[in-house]
Amino acid sequence: MGVPIKTITCDEKTIADQIRTAIRLWKFCEQSLMQDRQVCALVKGLDLDIEATQSAMVRAGIVNECSDCAISGQGTCCGVRAGYKCDSILLLINLLLGRNLPSVPADAHLCHFLTKQGCALRARHVICINFVCQRLRDVIPHNLLCRVQEIAGRDIDALFVLEECIKKKIGVATLIRAQETIGT
Ligand code: SF4
Repeated sequence: MGVPIKTITCDEKTIADQIRTAIRLWKFCEQSLMQDRQVCALVKGLDLDIEATQSAMVRAGIVNECSDCAISGQGTCCGVRAGYKCDSILLLINLLLGRNLPSVPADAHLCHFLTKQGCALRARHVICINFVCQRLRDVIPHNLLCRVQEIAGRDIDALFVLEECIKKKIGVATLIRAQETIGT
């Protein structure tokens, strides 16, 4: 944390702004949020649901397929536009989950949050969780894909509930203040 966010191009600026807002919110509110029993319980629950989704993806063979495709297939699905879907509340949740947010993308042609070690985010946008490409549809048995989607659904629900809870706890005024201080 504390690394200055480089704003080089207009495209980059949007994501840089979301990251800055998330970091400011984290600085303003981390203590009060993590002392709030409801938020703490929801963060822990989300973490467990994310773990369950990732384990289900490994068991179903999805992680292997994606790694193989990224290395020797068509390349990663994590395109440059995907990073724009991550708003400041989602990024704040990642900070609460102990993740660092990359200040610059590892590859400007791919998603801002895609690092050499994989996705930098623990809590990801619903599209990142739900997306099933044609290769996966062809290779992974339908019942396994359905099972993974069912488990991922809990992860998506838990994320939504936590996002709404955090918005309520921090309030619109704090959110606007965090956005307004960008560039100061
Ligand atoms: S999974 Fe992560 S790296 Fe891939 S598109 Fe989503 S946020 Fe970006």
